[in-house]
Amino acid sequence: MPASVERYVDVILPLDTPPLTFLLPEPWVDRVEVGSRVLVPLGARKFYTGIVWRVHDRKPAVKRLRAIAEVTDATPVVTPEQLRLWMWMADYYLCSPGVVMRAALPAALKPDGFSRDEALQGDYRATQIAYVRLHPRIASEADLQAALDSLGRARARQRAVMDYLCAARPEGVSEDAPGAFDPKGLGAVPRRQISVSGPVLKALVEREILELFWQEPPQESLTTEFAPLPQLSAAQSQALEALQKGLAEKSVALLQGVTGSGKTEIYIHLIAEALQRGGNVLYLLPEIALTTQLIERMRAYFGSAVVVYHSRLSDRRRAEVYRRLLDAPGGELIMGVRSSVLLPVPALSLVVIDEEHENSFKQSDNAPRYHARDTAILLASLYGARTVLGSATPSLESYLNARSGKYAHVILTERYSGVSLPQVVVCDTLRAARRGEKRSHFTTALLDRIDEALKQGDQVILFQNRRGFSPYVECGNCGWTAGCPQCNVTLTYHKAEGVLRCHYCGFQMAVPAVCPSCSTPDLRPMGFGTEKIEEELQAIFPEAVVDRLDADVARTARSYARILSDFEQGRTDILVGTQMITKGFDFGRVSLVGILNADNLLNYPDFRAGERAFQLMMQVGGRAGRRQRQGTVVIQTAQSTHPIIEQVRRGDYEAMAASQLAERRTFLYPPYCRMIALTLRHRDKALLWRAAAVFGAECRTVFGARVLGPEAPPVDRVRGQFLVRFLLKIEKQRSFARAKTLLKEQIAQLRAQAEFRYVEVIPDVDPQ
Ligand code: ADP
Ligand code: ZN
Ligand code: ZN
Repeated sequence: MPASVERYVDVILPLDTPPLTFLLPEPWVDRVEVGSRVLVPLGARKFYTGIVWRVHDRKPAVKRLRAIAEVTDATPVVTPEQLRLWMWMADYYLCSPGVVMRAALPAALKPDGFSRDEALQGDYRATQIAYVRLHPRIASEADLQAALDSLGRARARQRAVMDYLCAARPEGVSEDAPGAFDPKGLGAVPRRQISVSGPVLKALVEREILELFWQEPPQESLTTEFAPLPQLSAAQSQALEALQKGLAEKSVALLQGVTGSGKTEIYIHLIAEALQRGGNVLYLLPEIALTTQLIERMRAYFGSAVVVYHSRLSDRRRAEVYRRLLDAPGGELIMGVRSSVLLPVPALSLVVIDEEHENSFKQSDNAPRYHARDTAILLASLYGARTVLGSATPSLESYLNARSGKYAHVILTERYSGVSLPQVVVCDTLRAARRGEKRSHFTTALLDRIDEALKQGDQVILFQNRRGFSPYVECGNCGWTAGCPQCNVTLTYHKAEGVLRCHYCGFQMAVPAVCPSCSTPDLRPMGFGTEKIEEELQAIFPEAVVDRLDADVARTARSYARILSDFEQGRTDILVGTQMITKGFDFGRVSLVGILNADNLLNYPDFRAGERAFQLMMQVGGRAGRRQRQGTVVIQTAQSTHPIIEQVRRGDYEAMAASQLAERRTFLYPPYCRMIALTLRHRDKALLWRAAAVFGAECRTVFGARVLGPEAPPVDRVRGQFLVRFLLKIEKQRSFARAKTLLKEQIAQLRAQAEFRYVEVIPDVDPQ
């Protein structure tokens, strides 16, 4: 007997390693394919879930080859397109495919444990049922006839096959129609629909006539009857047509429409069209908690076709959604945050990315450090699907792509309601202070307008991009400030809770009664955050109901929803908040929006500061006067002549884009070059800086002046680890892929030196 060929599988594991090879034991040899889910042993006593990437018979040259422990899903749980996406992401974002897998699979689909059984306990498996189909070797009617003939007089077997054939025939085709039993048209049939005993079925499988396999039964069919779509205004219809036309030629379109222009209604039309054609749609949003309104709107049109995916779902629910999508034939609208781009979306036909300029689409704190917008565009291209990017203030990257003709570009300049964009009033805080027209953090001009709005029964939104009560406390006697013991930042004072908290690592402590340095009981809150604003406003307007929305109060979905519905239903008069209040809100009674301190947006030390400040101010301002009346935006700033302030005042995106792009071109910043930020990390500061010096010198021999750094970031110690930063700028004309290969070599070389073995090097491609 010839020795059978041993089979191996390369498995992607949820770790920062390349795929590893395992032996595929006999019973599974024909059951496992690319995308199957398996459990494998690793190290002394740990078991991990992995995804089969390759099946082959090349014995690897390792001493101790281990075998997979279990096949948890023979039917692939990762589509070929997903695998291609994973590989692209690993390559592009300089990480391992395993790290992408870790982000892509819901926890319940990647259990691990210290034993096989422990791991399997945590596994989420949907109920699979047995199906029967023809063996693939039977490809024509002649093959089928031959197979039937080969059964001779085995009546039970013949009956079973006939039973299958009748059930598998395409719907509406009669038995004697020509070609009714062409194997190409015969589908799979649930085993329990055909009368066949176990042994008979086994015999037919062994004779390679039928095949038996397990999978989840399909979902109940979805309603394709949608509620009537919104009537579009003339401007919206024109934009829709332009988009359709643009997307016939180009795979990506940018819809640049002022806030309140009704971009959502245009998406709704595009989505309906894609769903009706039988495709799936992926709708990416910057932050799901902030979009309950939007999801409800979508449900009103698309009912059960709407699938929502975000981190607040339970593990089980996420696994269910994931599995449901795996065999979604089409007709599903998936709404979710950036990680939804990693879901299986077979038959993807349209991607919508709303507020495409939002930097929450970039994952920055953990690998894979991917940008969901860019990743989604790539995903769409794998399916030949179209992508629509929408924003009132597009990222300069997308804007330039649209201007250069790479993307279709559609512009909407009027609001749906016809109401004009809010009037912008700039209040010079320095002048106000000189003239005594300032009360604490408010100019009297702003206070007067708040007063007026309240008298009219209108609502007010005040924006302050710092949460907490004050960014730090300082001793009035010796100047001591409270810092985090783990990170190089001051602790933020949270008055209501009476604590000082680190916004980098979450460390917190009670406010000391006396200064730890000089023992004077004179610790003072300095600067101001949302909590302080809330308190002061309440004192100035004792009659008004003031509420606050920021990461501190919105920690639970419920309090978030409460704050929101209170405001929506008019129970709150003034809402103070951070960025959280800027996104996708649509309230009818807000007549005034105040931006308390534009300076800390303008002065942010980043080449995107100007762009960001403009986007934020336009977006916050866009909350004013959305339904019947023109609203007002008051901007408090010490730099009233700053070009960005002027551009916001005129609502002039094009001017902002032109001046910012000119600067970026001059100083070579994206979108005119590509960047990779590198962070080196270690507990030992001296060792870290030695490593940085070596790394910097080596990198310069390869990249020359394209390397900037080493530099200590503004916060150079987080969770007890020191940080050093480098920046690599690669001109657009140069090969980015080649640069990354060279960079990987540099990183490997550094880590190869014994002394620097444990220095972490964290690349962030296209940092935000
Ligand atoms: P954008 O996303 O462009 O800021 P929205 O889509 O939120 O704008 O629309 C702003 C407001 O105008 C919403 O209250 C929306 O319901 C309303 N609106 C826009 N277009 C239509 C339409 N065609 N029919 C009815 N209401 C519309
Ligand atoms: Zn002191
Ligand atoms: Zn800290």
